[in-house]
Amino acid sequence: MAVNYKRKLNKKKIIIFIMSILLLFIVIGFVYFLFNKDEVIAILDSEVHTIEETDTYTLKIDYPIFHIKEVDNKVKEYVDKRKKEFIDVVDKIDYELTAKYDFLLNVTSSEYNDIINIHMNTLSYTGGAHYMRDDESIHYNKKTKQFMNLSDFFIDTEAFNKIDDLAYHYIMKLNLKSEKYNFSEIWVRRGIIPNALNYSHFTFKKDGLEILFPPYQIASWADGEIKITIPYSDLNELLKDEYKGSEKEDEKVVLVPEIRDLSKYEDKKLLAFTFDDGPNTSTTSLLLDNLDKYDAKVTFFVLGSRIDAHSEVLQRAYLEGNQIGSHTYNHQNLFVIDNTTILKEINDTNEKIKEVTGEYPKLIRPPYGNTNSEIKRLSSLSTVLWDVDTLDWKSRNAEKVCEEIMKSAHDGAIILLHDIYESSVNGALMAMDKLSKEGYAFVTISEMATLKNRELNNEETYYNFK
Ligand code: ZN
Repeated sequence: MAVNYKRKLNKKKIIIFIMSILLLFIVIGFVYFLFNKDEVIAILDSEVHTIEETDTYTLKIDYPIFHIKEVDNKVKEYVDKRKKEFIDVVDKIDYELTAKYDFLLNVTSSEYNDIINIHMNTLSYTGGAHYMRDDESIHYNKKTKQFMNLSDFFIDTEAFNKIDDLAYHYIMKLNLKSEKYNFSEIWVRRGIIPNALNYSHFTFKKDGLEILFPPYQIASWADGEIKITIPYSDLNELLKDEYKGSEKEDEKVVLVPEIRDLSKYEDKKLLAFTFDDGPNTSTTSLLLDNLDKYDAKVTFFVLGSRIDAHSEVLQRAYLEGNQIGSHTYNHQNLFVIDNTTILKEINDTNEKIKEVTGEYPKLIRPPYGNTNSEIKRLSSLSTVLWDVDTLDWKSRNAEKVCEEIMKSAHDGAIILLHDIYESSVNGALMAMDKLSKEGYAFVTISEMATLKNRELNNEETYYNFK
C-alpha cells in the first residue's frame, strides 16, 4: 500500500511537471506573439504624418522615422525649425487673407549601397505669386555611421572637381531634349561650381548618380527643379572603389497589369475606393495584401514627389490591376500658383508614373479638390473628386473610418481615403468586409465608368457615377 501510494504521488508529480512545461511553452508562445506584433507595429509606424487645418492655414507634414538616433534628430530638427518659421509668420497676420496660407513639408528617402539618402523639402505659401521653397539633404553611411558629402565618394578633391563638366554636359543634354527649358550658360555654370552646397541633393542609384538642382540654382523658378543622372560609365574612374557602380544598362521590361472580366459585376452595386497622398510602402502594402479577399480593385491618386522612394509598391499596385491617377507632384494648392508651375506639377507626376508603370495616368485629383476649367485645360486628364468624405486624416480611427463609409455608401459612390494611414487602410478593409455581404463590388474609376456606360472626358468633374 505504501509503495503504491508513493507511485501515485510520483505520477502526480510527473503530470504537474508536464503541465508546467506546457504552460511554459504557452507563455513563451504568447510573449513571442506579442513581440512579433510589436515589430509589425514598429514597421507600420515608420512614418509621421501631420495635417493641421485652421481658418488661416493648412499644414501638411510627412516624414519617415529611420530608427537611427542621429538621423532622426536631424530630420526632427529640420521639421521643427521650418514649422516654427511658418507659424511665426501666421501668428503675425492681422489682415483678411485672399487665400489660405499653406505649409507642405515632405521628406523622402532611398537607400543604396548602405547609404541612406534623405531629401527634405518645404513649400510654404504666405501670399504672393508662388510658394517659397526650401531644400535640405542628408546622406548617412550605415556602415561607418557617418554623414557624407558628395566629395566623400570621390577619390580625392581633384576627382571631385571634375564634377562640374559632367554636370554641365548632362544639364545641356536635357536642354536639347526638351523644349521647355531655355538655360542660360552663365546661370548654369554658376550653379554647378564644385562645392558641397551646390551638390547637396544627390543620390547614388543603380543607373548612376542623380543630382537635384532646386529652382534658382541653375535656372529660373519657372524651370522648376532640375534632375540629371550621370551614368557610372562617366563616373567610375573618379569614385572610390566601394562606390563604383555597374556600367551595364538594365533592360526595360514591358509591364502587363492584371485585367479582369467585368461582366460578373454588372448586377452589383459599385463602389470606387480611392486613396490619396501615397504611395507609402508599409501602409499601401497592407492594403494590397488584403484586397483579394474582397475581390477589390481600387484607385490611387499618388504624389509625384513620393514615387521614387515608394516605387516598388506603386508598381505592385499597378500590376495587380489597381488604377494609378495623379495627385500632382508636391500637393500645392493649384489656385495660388501660376500656370507654368501647375503644368510642372502635373507633367512631372505624369512622367514619374510612366517611369514606374509604363503608362501615363488618365485621371487627376487636384489637392484639396481645387480645380477649375483652366486647371482642367492644363492637365488634359479626367478630374475625379469624391462624394463620400471619410475625414480619415482627422479621426485616425479605423472604426470611425468604417462607420463613415457605411453611413454614406451607395451605388456609384467615390470614397475619399488616404493610404498613408494604417487606420484608413484598416477602416476601408473593415467596410469592404461588411459591404461585400450587402452585394457591393469594389472597382477602379475606369472600371466604374465602363460598367456605368460612361465615357470619361476632360471637362467634367466626377463626384460619383450615379
Ligand atoms: Zn491630398
